Amino acid sequence: MATRRDTHYRGRLAPSPTGYLHLGHARTFWIAQMRAQARGGTLVLRNEDLDRARCKPPFVSAMLEDLKWFGFHWQEGPDCGGPFGPYNQRDRFDLYRAALRQLKESGCVYPCTCSRQDVLRALQAPHQGEDEPIYPGTCRQHPKSEIRNPNWNWRFRVPEGEALRFDDGCYGPQQFVAGKDFGDFVVWRHDDVPAYQLAVVVDDAAMQITEVVRGTDLLKSTVRQLLLYRALGLAPPEFFHCPLVTDHAGVRLAKRHDALSLRTLRRGGATPVLLKQAWELKRLSLSDGRGESETAQVWDAEITESER
Ligand SMILES: [Zn+2]
Repeated sequence: MATRRDTHYRGRLAPSPTGYLHLGHARTFWIAQMRAQARGGTLVLRNEDLDRARCKPPFVSAMLEDLKWFGFHWQEGPDCGGPFGPYNQRDRFDLYRAALRQLKESGCVYPCTCSRQDVLRALQAPHQGEDEPIYPGTCRQHPKSEIRNPNWNWRFRVPEGEALRFDDGCYGPQQFVAGKDFGDFVVWRHDDVPAYQLAVVVDDAAMQITEVVRGTDLLKSTVRQLLLYRALGLAPPEFFHCPLVTDHAGVRLAKRHDALSLRTLRRGGATPVLLKQAWELKRLSLSDGRGESETAQVWDAEITESER
């Protein structure tokens, strides 16, 4: 497959404003920024606000403030514009719709009337250990006329048995087999919202991103996205997946770990310099603001590997 290795480097930060940014996001984004800067590239900030129920305007302004405080600099984004805008996913529906139309016309997707459960999940990026179950193919054979609900989901038909490969910039060669490691996946929800997988492919292609840097929880999603790139006739970027920052129990940091949100850390007196040192030391002393502190966090042992 063609790549854009030789062109001007374009990377992106793609946070979702469903809560406050935490140290785990900052770590992944920092690697993205370092990789862009090392190549004299451009860094794009994309606001992934598709989930109307969970993405709140106060989180968007907090996100911009926290990123700036930490030392992030982007050259294109929702706050500063740029040649590939708009940079809020909510404002890009025409592009997603056009991609869905193309997938329908080429027969790559089919309507699916299965339960809400898997479908709801399709809107967000999957997290480690929370990958969607393999779809049993229930609706693959339905003639369209049999489906009464006009508001169906659209599911991508994966090429059963095909081994999909890519070279990850951090983890090396990857392979996942369609139909075995992952199944037909939702690209458009019945409530007329594109799934994460489709939106991210459309945007990364339209914004001419040359390398996607993100957490390792999205490693397997990459092959779903490669199928979408192929089906849409688009050249995929390079991929670099970072080990995730975990808490002392080895659990991935989530937005619910409020103690590790950038705002809480800042309020407790942390500075960006201290937080970056904590990555190196793989631990961090947390202050509760009342003089009590604890050293609670360690980081994935692979973390230094990601700096290669
Ligand atoms: Zn179905």
